[in-house]
Amino acid sequence: MPAPAATTRLSIDLGALAANWRLMRDLSGNARCGAAVKADGYGTGAAQAAPRLAREGCRDFFVADANEGASLRPLLPDARIFILNGVFDGSFALTLAHDLIPIINSPDQAAFWRNNAGDRAYALHVDTGMNRMGLTPEQAVAHSQSGGPAPCLVMSHFACADDSAHPLNAEQIRIFQGLRPCFAGVEASLANSAGIHLGSAAHHDMTRPGIALYGGEPVSGVPNRMAPVVTAEARVLVIRHARAGETVSYGASHRFSRDSRIAVCGVGYADGFHRSGSGSGVPLRSAVPQGAFGAFNGTRVPVIGKITMDLTMFDVTDVPEDCVNAGDWVELLGPTITLEEAATAAGTISYELLTSLGQRHARTYVD
Ligand SMILES: *Cc1c(COP(=O)(O)O)cnc(C)c1O
Repeated sequence: MPAPAATTRLSIDLGALAANWRLMRDLSGNARCGAAVKADGYGTGAAQAAPRLAREGCRDFFVADANEGASLRPLLPDARIFILNGVFDGSFALTLAHDLIPIINSPDQAAFWRNNAGDRAYALHVDTGMNRMGLTPEQAVAHSQSGGPAPCLVMSHFACADDSAHPLNAEQIRIFQGLRPCFAGVEASLANSAGIHLGSAAHHDMTRPGIALYGGEPVSGVPNRMAPVVTAEARVLVIRHARAGETVSYGASHRFSRDSRIAVCGVGYADGFHRSGSGSGVPLRSAVPQGAFGAFNGTRVPVIGKITMDLTMFDVTDVPEDCVNAGDWVELLGPTITLEEAATAAGTISYELLTSLGQRHARTYVD
C-alpha cells in the first residue's frame, strides 16, 4: 500500500529495540537472554525485529504457533525457535520441516511428541501457579522418570511478576527450583520481562523478555527505563470550527463549552486506536475519567467525543492556530504519549495496544 496515501503511520526504532534487549541481557545476570517475538513481534513486525535481535546476539526466540515459527525460520537460520503453544497433529509437519522446538504443555502433547518425533528436541513447560500451560509439578516428575528423551529446556511462567511484592512470585520460584534436580543438566528458564526484575533467583539459564524489548513498562509503578520503540501518528485531514453548544461525533456525547477548533485525523479503532479511549460516551469514562490524548510537537490535545472506525477528533483550540493544519501529523504513541498512558486511557495494557495495531499504517523502520 503506497505510503504517501496512508493517513496513519508507524515508525519502528530497531536501534531502540536492540538497546532494550541489551539492557534485558545485562539485567539477566549470568543467564542468556532470549526474546519473545510472538504475535508478529508484539505488532512491531517480527520479520524486522527478530533478525535485528539476532544481529545483537540473541539466539533463542519464542513464538506462539508453528506458522509464526515457519515464517521466521528463513530469517533466523541459526536460531532456536520455540513454539509456546506446543504441538498437535495439524502443526506437526510444519514443526519438523522448519526445525522448530515445541514447548510441550501437557501429558498428551508429551505422548504425541514421543510417539511421532522420537528423540527430536523439545522443551517442557511446567505449571507453577499460572494454571494455563504446562504439566503439573507431579506430572513433570513423572515425565522425568518415564525413560524417554530429556527436554532441551525446562521452563515455567510467572503469573504476577509485574507486582514484585506478590507472594506467588516466591512460591513459583520455589516450586520451579524444586523440580530442577529431576532435570539435571537441562537448561531452565523462568523469567519474562517482569521476572528478570525479580533478581537472580528468577534468572536460571535463560530469560524470555517480550514487552520490555518493545518499550513497555515491565514492572508496574516503577519508572520505565525502556526506550520507546513504536511511534504512531495520524494525519490531520480537516480542521473545523465548532460553536459553543454544538456537539461532536456519534451519540453527541461531547458538547463544546466554548467556540472550538477540531482536528479530524485519519485514525480510528480499526487501526488499534481503541474506541474505549474515546473522550466521552463510552462506559470506561465512568471508571477512568481521562480519555486518550494526541500530541502536536509535544503539546497534548485530548480526543473529543467518540473515536470512530477510521477517524478521531482532537480538540486543538489551545494549540496556536498556525501550528496545526491539514497535512500535519498528530502523535498517538511515541516520545510524548507513552504506551502505558495510551493503554490506560483505553482500559487495556501495552501488550494489547501493540498487538492490535491494524494493517493500514504505513510502516517505517529506523535504526
Ligand atoms: C509472552 C511470553 C513471554 C514474554 O513475556 P513478557 O511479559 O512480554 O516479557 C515469556 N514467556 C512466555 C511463556 C510467554 O507467553
